[in-house]
Amino acid sequence: MRKWICGLCVLLVFNAQAAGGLRERVSLEGLRKAGIPVEIFQEAGVEKEEIVLYLSFWKDLVYFPAAGNYREAGSRFFFENSWLEERNFGGNRVHEGCDIFGEKSVSGFYPVVSMTAGVVEKIGWLPLGGWRIGIRSPGGGYFYYAHLSSYAADFQEGDSVEAGEMLGFLGDTGYGEKGTTGQFPPHLHMGIYVRTEKREEYPLNPYPVLEFLQDKQKNFFY
Ligand SMILES: [Zn+2]
Repeated sequence: MRKWICGLCVLLVFNAQAAGGLRERVSLEGLRKAGIPVEIFQEAGVEKEEIVLYLSFWKDLVYFPAAGNYREAGSRFFFENSWLEERNFGGNRVHEGCDIFGEKSVSGFYPVVSMTAGVVEKIGWLPLGGWRIGIRSPGGGYFYYAHLSSYAADFQEGDSVEAGEMLGFLGDTGYGEKGTTGQFPPHLHMGIYVRTEKREEYPLNPYPVLEFLQDKQKNFFY
């Protein structure tokens, strides 16, 4: 069976167009065997055809992206399924991600870590995302971390990062010109995108992934 699952992944990697065919063929049982918690996805309202798109990077997932602060025993985080809710800043648009809030509403307090190993694909300021960093995982998932208060290192595009490596700190940057802060409570906006035959950035709901990684929180003790 293991062989069959690997074959499936290879197909996905080498032929993005196969995704269309896979959507028809992969059973829920097949997804479960690949380690995907199908029930969590279904509760989050993700259709089977979409769940298949998470397969390519599923084995890359290691850590929950918000980490505990060393000054606090057992930092807790909150997030809700706000997929495609309306947002107004920057014109009418919908929420392509998931927001993670810490118990303390303080910018620069909680470390943000990479959920996967990968390569820094994009870094710098975006009017909506503020200070953001985007990591491409080995399986091809693009993990987008936004509103950071600062970066943990002088990352450059092309740099490799490890799963669990500190990328920066949870903050409240964005919604304006470079350096804008305080337009909303501090939180981490997390987005996941994959390449499909039709779109370079096909957005996936990160909520079920975050639920899956909830108990894989990293805590920093110095
Ligand atoms: Zn958001």
